[in-house]
Amino acid sequence: MEGPLTTETRSKFFQMKSQELEITGCANSGCGWACCSFQKKSHIIIMPQEFADIPENDRKHLSIIDDDYLGGMKVHCNAKDTSNCDGGYKPVHCGIYPLWAKSLSETSLYRSNKCPLPDHVVDATAKDVLATMQAYGRDKLIPVEEFETFLSTVYIDNYSKFDEGRAVK
Ligand code: SF4
Ligand code: SF4
Repeated sequence: MEGPLTTETRSKFFQMKSQELEITGCANSGCGWACCSFQKKSHIIIMPQEFADIPENDRKHLSIIDDDYLGGMKVHCNAKDTSNCDGGYKPVHCGIYPLWAKSLSETSLYRSNKCPLPDHVVDATAKDVLATMQAYGRDKLIPVEEFETFLSTVYIDNYSKFDEGRAVK
């Protein structure tokens, strides 16, 4: 999808992207959708302005624990049905898991060490993850430098550098 998005389509677009990014190998990984448990035990990072267009009713499974975390937020997930986020909004952080981009360049990817997926499966999603993050920054009109500072500064627990399909410690 090219160009700026209208307010009506924004939240739908990012929710769709989150769902699209769901990795097909997850269902067979045997992990039992463990990342929802990790996220529920610790927290989910909400990007700057991510909740701006999301109706409260769609995010009632997410309780805010820090409403100004480096310009974004930290939330807990209380969803009972993690297969569909209780029918509500799936944050970008959940959608791009197990990857995280510390900037918008291809060399900035990190992967969670907690996810059992092999690197080659995760690697297949890397381009889409970066494209989603780049589209997000453009659409939300977040200055690139500001967004990159956010991405590089937030604390991500137990991740390793992910370089050309290989996790590099
Ligand atoms: S991303 Fe990793 S931890 Fe999450 S459901 Fe898929 S295999 Fe499991
Ligand atoms: S918001 Fe959805 S994907 Fe994220 S931890 Fe909760 S149930 Fe899982």
